[in-house]
Amino acid sequence: MHFGVDYYPEHWPRERWATDASLMREAGIEVVRMAEFAWAKMEPAPGRYDFDWLDEAIEVLSKEGIKTVLGTPTATPPAWMIERHPEILPVRQDGVRVGFGGRHHDCQSSETYRGYIRRFVPIMAQHFRDNGGVVGWQVDNELGNSHQQLCYCDSCHRAFHSWLEKRYGSIDALNEAWGTVFWSQSYDSFEQIPTPSPTPNSHNPSLLLDWRRFTSDLIVDFLRFQVEILRNECPKHFVTHNFMGFYDKTDYYDLARDLDFISVSYYPRIFIEGERLAPSMTDLAATLDLMRGTKQRSFWIMEQQAGPTGWETLGSTPRPGQLRLWTCQSVAHGADTIVYFRWRTCLFGTEQYWHGILPHSGEPGRRYDEIRTTIRELTPHMPKWEGALPGSEVAILYSYDQRWALQIQPHHPDLGYARQIRVYYGAFCRANVPVDFVSDDADLSCYKLVIAPLLFLTTPELSDRLKDYVSQGGSLVLTMRTAVKDWNNRVVPRTLPGDLSELLGLTITDYDCLRDGDQKIRWDANQAPTGAYQAPKGASSVPTDDSFKALKWCDIITLDGAESLATYASEYYEGSPAITRNTFGKGTAYYIATEPDTPLTERTVQYLLEQTGIVPILETPVDVEVVRRRAKKSEYLFILNHSAVSAEISVPSQWKHLLGEKLKDGRLALEPFGVAVLEAQL
Ligand SMILES: [Zn+2]
Repeated sequence: MHFGVDYYPEHWPRERWATDASLMREAGIEVVRMAEFAWAKMEPAPGRYDFDWLDEAIEVLSKEGIKTVLGTPTATPPAWMIERHPEILPVRQDGVRVGFGGRHHDCQSSETYRGYIRRFVPIMAQHFRDNGGVVGWQVDNELGNSHQQLCYCDSCHRAFHSWLEKRYGSIDALNEAWGTVFWSQSYDSFEQIPTPSPTPNSHNPSLLLDWRRFTSDLIVDFLRFQVEILRNECPKHFVTHNFMGFYDKTDYYDLARDLDFISVSYYPRIFIEGERLAPSMTDLAATLDLMRGTKQRSFWIMEQQAGPTGWETLGSTPRPGQLRLWTCQSVAHGADTIVYFRWRTCLFGTEQYWHGILPHSGEPGRRYDEIRTTIRELTPHMPKWEGALPGSEVAILYSYDQRWALQIQPHHPDLGYARQIRVYYGAFCRANVPVDFVSDDADLSCYKLVIAPLLFLTTPELSDRLKDYVSQGGSLVLTMRTAVKDWNNRVVPRTLPGDLSELLGLTITDYDCLRDGDQKIRWDANQAPTGAYQAPKGASSVPTDDSFKALKWCDIITLDGAESLATYASEYYEGSPAITRNTFGKGTAYYIATEPDTPLTERTVQYLLEQTGIVPILETPVDVEVVRRRAKKSEYLFILNHSAVSAEISVPSQWKHLLGEKLKDGRLALEPFGVAVLEAQL
């Protein structure tokens, strides 16, 4: 199963289902996901079950050779349940209980709600356990989505207390860890601790970080609770869940742990009210690489964009070639199966304009033709790279704890953890160097170079592992605001960067939050990269040596063994180091004392690649991405033109062209939004 669609037979007359199934087979569709929002259809009244319609839909699809993944419908508790038990509805931060009418109108700690799930999910699982058309399950849908404010109900409040008691053991330990002596916040019992509902001003940062951890753990527990039911009832079926890239409500490393593989909802041109996202090529690539990194294995796209999207307002229509491009990009970054959302654009409900492959009319058109062609050309090749990973030599440490702590206290109002992560990622991506995202407890020994931006919270164990990695020969980059706090979000009383000083060969004696504008940085002439300096792709001019910029923050460094690579070029700390290098054991530790602007990031990354001997896969023009999947005997290069103009690149002549690519004077010619896939024997 390599290609599929999300299908909602309950939205269409039964007499249409056979036509849909036939059109799907004609397009090369081998799997559908169904029923993840259909609780009211499957249990129309308490204890009255109706699976006949779904049995029939599965049978109609099976006749065309199409398998089914079923969703547990727990993102949409039915109206009869809410009428009986309104306490299932979640409570917002301002104390208002939200109403029935959207989706995810459920509190995930509610024992009443879990009771309904405990009854329904085993019955559904038992019903479909032996149906040969069913192959696996998706738990719920996009957990953490639609929970912008999480839930502040009494049940969650009590669950928060239990979570804190388990974490700290005693109220005295919590008071100490949080520093509740400040503003008379000491607690006599866990029951006194509030949820972070509105106060006259701000909550304790330690409370806020634990609240984020608690709510993440609650979502993980809610998933696990259902996974256990499904494993018990359907041991032969796989279990997955659809993640959402850089969403931050749940620690996706934790959420991935209980699943056979993760799945992704991937909308390169998403547009819903209030969000105006126009992600760059590198942001899209980062999203897919982060998703692969949650389990360090290949994955499914469970919702791949198939048309313009939107609820009340719409995003732009994918241009001819873009659906194929985005499909290939997903595959390139590690997707083994692509399921398009959705089969046919719905006539009613919130998502009437979240377009599917088929338009409202149900008549196949341009999008159907493009997806059918894409599936036909890719299907014969998909088994070749199944399970294959990029073979990255570079890792970026991405941590939910760091992200949450810096959301609570961003220092500079524009500082964003995920954004800074993407600044570094973008420079490697534009250089066509594969990157893995790793968690803060990952084994780093397989990487030549590790970047750990904004490592704001540390533990002695984490510091020791980083020191071990470098002393054994690794190259590590740490940046501004490293080792400021302990894991409880309390400042550690020491000179920064604390127990990482020896590793970095420096101390930080002062710092400056750049509220009055950027700071200049000069790259030291004797530290120039050995090759002629290349302007970043798309840059209008080559930066002069002192035109680089420090953004948002400057650490002011005193060297203690490290050497300076770049220095500040203005302010009272003019001439002091901004980027440093220190030899430690067999390896090297670098420190970047600011958020570098794009040219400085590019230059620094170029320097790091030279120092570590990491070679980019290929040279390409701006907006052309190269991604690798390395199988046992062969490696596959996906060359993706994200721009609306054609491009040409040189590729090694011995590489085999898999998609009938066009060669022009020995050079590969890519159409607007064009794709090439090349194979080389290892
Ligand atoms: Zn709740």
